[in-house]
Amino acid sequence: MDTELLLMVVICLLISTDGLTLEPTELLGVEGRLSVEATDVEMASLDFGGLSRDKPLAVLHPASVNDVVELMSSAYGSARGFTVSARGHGHSINGQAQAANGVVIEMSRLKGSWLRIGELAHSSSSSSSKGGFYVDVWGGELWIDVLRGSLEYGLAPRSWTDYLYLSVGGTLSNAGISGQAFNHGPQISNVYELDVVTGKGELVTCSEDKNSELFHGVLGGLGQFGIITRARIALEPAPQRVRWIRVLYSNFSTFTRDQEYLISLHGEPASQKFDYVEGFVIVDEGLINNWRSSFFSPRNPVKISSIAANGGVLYCLEMTKNYDNTTATTVDQEVEALLKKLDFIPASVFMTDLPYIDFLDRVHKAELKLKSKGLWDVPHPWLNLFVPKSAIEEFDSGVFKGILGNKTSGPILIYPMNKDK
Ligand SMILES: Cc1cc2nc3c(=O)[nH]c(=O)nc-3n(C[C@H](O)[C@H](O)[C@H](O)COP(=O)(O)OP(=O)(O)OC[C@H]3O[C@@H](n4cnc5c(N)ncnc54)[C@H](O)[C@@H]3O)c2cc1C
Repeated sequence: MDTELLLMVVICLLISTDGLTLEPTELLGVEGRLSVEATDVEMASLDFGGLSRDKPLAVLHPASVNDVVELMSSAYGSARGFTVSARGHGHSINGQAQAANGVVIEMSRLKGSWLRIGELAHSSSSSSSKGGFYVDVWGGELWIDVLRGSLEYGLAPRSWTDYLYLSVGGTLSNAGISGQAFNHGPQISNVYELDVVTGKGELVTCSEDKNSELFHGVLGGLGQFGIITRARIALEPAPQRVRWIRVLYSNFSTFTRDQEYLISLHGEPASQKFDYVEGFVIVDEGLINNWRSSFFSPRNPVKISSIAANGGVLYCLEMTKNYDNTTATTVDQEVEALLKKLDFIPASVFMTDLPYIDFLDRVHKAELKLKSKGLWDVPHPWLNLFVPKSAIEEFDSGVFKGILGNKTSGPILIYPMNKDK
């Protein structure tokens, strides 16, 4: 493998905090609803992180793209100016979708928002030469709805986040990363075209070939280069089922070596690689039965404490193999052949099998469970880091075993990434 491995480490801890206030004023004529109601303003001043709270003056519920154009033009043209922020599903951690004294555009609730499947015409241009199907969606559409709508046509987007109750505009403003990224790249690498309302209030269509600076600025642009009102997302034939496997390691070097090996297979035929490769750190035995684990039976084939050396820290490598009727007879052999190449703790294999949609929507099950216990709507300080391969051993000894070892109950995820994706 010639590309440098990047390990993205997501560290989630649970602590608490609180916030402040502001007041409403003037606004403009739009077809949708421009609200200064306390409940709307309050909602737009909160997010999943629960760590920062900036109140906007008003919240726009757009009825169409034109409302977004109208608002942006007014903000640009007004003498005083005011800030505008798009809010997808408000699952940011640190107030990224808030607009102190400005206007928040509530993107995720457009009435009658749409989803249109199409097929690219083959041509020599770089974006369309990829060929294949796509779906055009409203920027505030949730990924779970994009999935459901595409599945009706036997199709699905190819790159995901672990959790699907996030908006298209929200994840495309970041990157959109999950276990498929080693193979297909993050979600921002799987977009053919965007409609964007710029800071001047112009509605611009952009792609790799057309207004490409705007296209590349908006993708991963943290909401600072315009509002995504439409995204054209690449689709693939949807698999029917997923074989989902977890294996354990007590040695970090062996764990990362196996992760690197698996993602180095990205150029191989589908039968010779996994479709998803992720991993997580277990600093507490309870975790193995906690975060997204209720799908596995038996839940715990080995006594974790009996194999947890190194101060109790274990590493879980997580993989999936997609299949359908045509490949159902070979999936076991393919999984077996790949597992033989890995050096995990013998007898630490957790395996389950489920419909594709249930695998992609797996975190929602944990969400419902946490909500029922009142543990979902709590502050969420999270840290996402890209750690280069050259520093990951040091990171393990300093952070996983040093700072965190047995001292956190939050999930610690490790996404192995190929830098060139
Ligand atoms: C439980 C949970 C699990 C997660 N899992 C993953 C994961 O597996 N992989 C991953 O990559 N991320 C993950 N995330 C992070 C998530 O992708 C980002 O926080 C994302 O921005 C949230 O989307 P949202 O729709 O809630 O965005 P918001 O919080 O509403 O907005 C995020 C940013 O995008 C901007 N924005 C929103 N909509 C638009 C638009 N239409 N046009 C332009 N800018 C816009 C906002 O202004 C803001 O700056 C997770 C978050 C949570 C809470």
